Amino acid sequence: MAHAVSGALRTLMEICLVGGAVRDELLGLEVKDRDWVVTGATPEQMLAQGFRPVGKDFPVFINPHTGEEYALARTERKSGHGYQGFTFHAHPDVTLEEDLLRRDLTINAMARRPDGSLVDPYQGQDDLEQRVLRHVSPAFAEDPLRVLRVARFMARFTPLGFQVAPETLALMQQISASGELQHLSAERVWMEFERALSCDHPLVFLQCLQQAQALPVLLPEFNPLDWNSAQPVLDRLNREHPCAEQRFALLCHLAMPEEAPLEAVKTLCERLKTPNRFLQAATDLLQWHDTLASLDTQESSRRLALVKALKLLRNPERLQQLLAPTHALHPDMPDDLGPRFEQRLAALAQVSSAEFMQQGLQGKALGNALEARYLALLESL
Ligand code: ATP
Ligand code: MG
Repeated sequence: MAHAVSGALRTLMEICLVGGAVRDELLGLEVKDRDWVVTGATPEQMLAQGFRPVGKDFPVFINPHTGEEYALARTERKSGHGYQGFTFHAHPDVTLEEDLLRRDLTINAMARRPDGSLVDPYQGQDDLEQRVLRHVSPAFAEDPLRVLRVARFMARFTPLGFQVAPETLALMQQISASGELQHLSAERVWMEFERALSCDHPLVFLQCLQQAQALPVLLPEFNPLDWNSAQPVLDRLNREHPCAEQRFALLCHLAMPEEAPLEAVKTLCERLKTPNRFLQAATDLLQWHDTLASLDTQESSRRLALVKALKLLRNPERLQQLLAPTHALHPDMPDDLGPRFEQRLAALAQVSSAEFMQQGLQGKALGNALEARYLALLESL
């Protein structure tokens, strides 16, 4: 459907692959989501072909069959604060080159025509080869979100050897100095941070923000991080194929103040409106890593306290989540501690109150009998 262009428009309308998909394909990486740019078309023509508009007055459409985004070629002008402070000019006359000019980085400003040819007016391919994140035009400074985007691309592409071009870093610093970062919504900041947490190098994301002088504004809680001591801890975590929640928990542990760290994490998560599971992963780690790491030498009452606090009988995955970052913080923790503790939890889960009730126990007496059984089962690990 998308490419079946009707009669008279055939010579005008053109749909090209653009942005991340072109970049990732040139890098030899797996292409996850594809974005398209459409030149020579009006919104009415898009609607007539069955595309669904993304929002009112926004020249972006969704292909209902693939879910992929098709944006009409547009130019932009800054008209207000923040990410949304733009007026768009989307018109069939806007050329592919003009559309590519409004994009953030040269490596993101390439398109592939239907005949397979590459459109690269801003030397994105050279920058890919030289491993440089470079802005396309001075208009880069008009959107503060780009500071976060560059930091995220640095995090993702750092294993390939990418660096931020000095003149781009200067523009990022200029954005920070302008006060525009304050206009970014919590959702935007979190969205980019979460993406950075989904790759192995979230520290590079934070470091890049610091170099751009954006960290004290966007994520001041991470400003005190000591990169040199944090890196090996994160490297140990990465060996265990962690999820974003586990990386978040570890970074919080490393960055939060010694005094009232839980309150600091709570404030951070409330401000960023993180999903609750991130807060939980961080508070579980802050509160329980010491106990878990030293479980072999703990009293059974302390072991039971951990089981109860994390509700491990009902949520065994919470232990799974806690194990890897705890191991990263305590490299001497025995490898088999997790499996041994899980076996104990399985034994605890078998305990049934029916047995005690048959003996006539109820109420507090029943509770005490269950507790005694749990403690007995947790005597050895
Ligand atoms: P990813 O692989 O994470 O999807 P991407 O480069 O495809 O990376 P998208 O957010 O999907 O990023 O955006 C698609 C394209 O739109 C980008 O490659 C870039 O050309 C352009 N773009 C997106 N956001 C901005 C922005 N804030 N400023 C300028 N250009 C942008
Ligand atoms: Mg994309």
